[in-house]
Amino acid sequence: MALLLARRALLAGGRRAPRAPARPRGERRLSPLGTFSPPLLPPPPRRAPSLPALPAAPPAARLCSGAAGEAAAAAGGAGALLRHLCRKLRASGPVTVAEYMREALTNPAQGYYTRRGGIGESGDFITSPEISQVFGELIGIWYISEWMAMGKPNTFQLVELGPGRGTLTEDILRVFSQLSSVLSKCDVSVHLVEVSPKLGEIQAQMLTGGKVQPSPKDESAYMKGMSKTGIPIFWYRDIQDVPSGYSFYLAHEFFDALPIHKFQRTEKGWREVLVDIDPEAPDQLRFVLSPSSTPATENFIQPEETRDHVEVCPEAGVIIQRLACRIEKDGGAALVADYGHDGTKTDTFRGFQNHKLHDVLSAPGTADLTADVDFSYLRKMTQERTTTLGPIKQREFLKNMGIDLRLQVLLQNSRDTATREQLLRSYDMLMNPENMGDCFNFFALLPHHRLVHPDKKDKPESKSPLPPVAGFNELLLK
Ligand code: SAH
Repeated sequence: MALLLARRALLAGGRRAPRAPARPRGERRLSPLGTFSPPLLPPPPRRAPSLPALPAAPPAARLCSGAAGEAAAAAGGAGALLRHLCRKLRASGPVTVAEYMREALTNPAQGYYTRRGGIGESGDFITSPEISQVFGELIGIWYISEWMAMGKPNTFQLVELGPGRGTLTEDILRVFSQLSSVLSKCDVSVHLVEVSPKLGEIQAQMLTGGKVQPSPKDESAYMKGMSKTGIPIFWYRDIQDVPSGYSFYLAHEFFDALPIHKFQRTEKGWREVLVDIDPEAPDQLRFVLSPSSTPATENFIQPEETRDHVEVCPEAGVIIQRLACRIEKDGGAALVADYGHDGTKTDTFRGFQNHKLHDVLSAPGTADLTADVDFSYLRKMTQERTTTLGPIKQREFLKNMGIDLRLQVLLQNSRDTATREQLLRSYDMLMNPENMGDCFNFFALLPHHRLVHPDKKDKPESKSPLPPVAGFNELLLK
């Protein structure tokens, strides 16, 4: 009841200018699998290194080696990463799509997110929090709702993975501030996991007005500051660096940016898709198939697999496993929102530049690369340490969270036609099945005890309903 009152107060609250909608990237579809037919790579021997002095790296090491990446940067210009990759490929042969994607996105000097991270109207792609403040407000309410349902612990960490420009955290913190009477006895801190120094700076500006300080080397955070609303904020490069403790995790359009492996069924069995230099055009890249199965093929393809093309993101599996372990041990919840599927889709790897589809192998480092999240894989990787809910469609989640009421209030409070039209356009972008309403999904990790009614432990015959989980159940808003 207290939550409903709080939520009603918030949904009816103040007005800010709506954000300008641009085209989201989730709605675009790739060409169907049938067109994905890279040539089978001839069997080894691998090409002899044609460059004398590449820094040695163990075969399994990440291609994205700091020193080599920084050397690439020193060369400068948009082609630096391509040149660096070509040198690597000539020296040691084709690489997995995962290695290519990691290099293109997070190479320490020339990766897309490291250098550019073009989120927003003037960038390469737009995300829900950048479209409307309502999105982040409803997510803020979700966390407060779960905090209340779990007995209002006296402290919690909000941990966001891949916070982009910091807009979502900003909107959530505004909700926390508006509901400060509800949270008054709770010690809240914010922990942001961000690999991109460039985006870290933008987040610091957005959330603290630039008032941050680097952390001493012996602390796990690389930067810290205080939010405009007085909440301490810490930045990390890896989820493992975030201190343990009761935490609410958030990953919005984060898992889709992690490197995927791609596999193709052939007459000879499963083969991994690799990236190589195009022999016809030595400064261009192409997909090839491994001549035999690779360790990844053995590990990631299930014997019962029926699809002909499969994408797997082991890094997402490791991270979700960590979140599940933390939630099981310390309590809390995780909310994952992304475009994706439940183990049914095939070839979804795509690139975006300036809000348009971009060839994934062309000009690496200058475009966002992304692949749909496989929620069935995430569910499997929790290893039943937590309960999972979803994936459910974004339009259902937001509707259950009260987006219609919030829209009505904002429309009533706005005086000019342009603002009202903007509000309606943003709503349409988030909710319309043709836009982001159907292709984006919400998925949650909760401790098992969250969905067991306290009565039922002692009285299994108890008929009282389970406490609903906001967003995944319809909450009555009267
Ligand atoms: N959540 C934001 C941004 C999504 S873009 C939004 O919805 O607007 C992906 C974000 O994840 C960026 O902030 C990018 O820098 C970050 N990122 C990508 N790979 C990462 C990794 N391996 N570790 C941490 N952050 C990463």
